[in-house]
Amino acid sequence: MDKRLRWFDEGAPKLRQALDRLGLDDVLPADKNFYACPCCLVAYPCEAIPAGLLTIEDVPPKSVGGRPLLLTCKRCNNTAGSVFDSHAATRADAEDFIRGRITGRPLPMTSHVDGIPLRGTARWTDNGIQFVGVPERNDPKVQAAHLEALDAHVYGRNPRLNHSFTVHTRFDEARARISWIRAAYLAAFAALGWSYIFRSVMDPYRKQLQQPDVSVVPTYILRNPNASPEERRVLLVDRPTSCLP
Ligand SMILES: [Zn+2]
Repeated sequence: MDKRLRWFDEGAPKLRQALDRLGLDDVLPADKNFYACPCCLVAYPCEAIPAGLLTIEDVPPKSVGGRPLLLTCKRCNNTAGSVFDSHAATRADAEDFIRGRITGRPLPMTSHVDGIPLRGTARWTDNGIQFVGVPERNDPKVQAAHLEALDAHVYGRNPRLNHSFTVHTRFDEARARISWIRAAYLAAFAALGWSYIFRSVMDPYRKQLQQPDVSVVPTYILRNPNASPEERRVLLVDRPTSCLP
């Protein structure tokens, strides 16, 4: 059975139960099943699946190691990919590079030898950082001068190597953060269900997703120096109340 249909069939009665508990049993037509996108709370009938309006969502985003977990609407899924998740992925690439992780993904960089630039890419290998120049991004004369300066060092004419490099990554820290807030929200929904996200205390999180340029959810940072960089965990905080939105 199509995973999307299975998740729809599992979610629909739970949505109905959660609405009943809130005394909202009349908000959806009784003769049909519905599944609401957990991000925007718009309810869709089963026909939304073949129509492509309800889509499989990876949590956290696939680009940072997530896996398919639930259904969200196409609009929320696509918007998150371009508005939030691309920033989280770029930040993760930058963090991997700083940590020296061998990911196989080269990052744009500019290398300087004796102040002469060469634009290209950088990535970690078993032997350290590998720089690769990209000819179409360099003036041929500047590139030749860079390689000449490098040769002068390699062949002993200039024993002192004056080398520096800059890795270029561009991401919006706030949007990368919202991507992770969104992942935590969806993971909490998958574990705890509709009743959990229908609580009014969760409203600011949905508002934050709709308003990426406004800081709705404050930042709290807890540091665990012993945690693995790959560890992903959702913490449910109920005390102190000052940590609640
Ligand atoms: Zn949605």
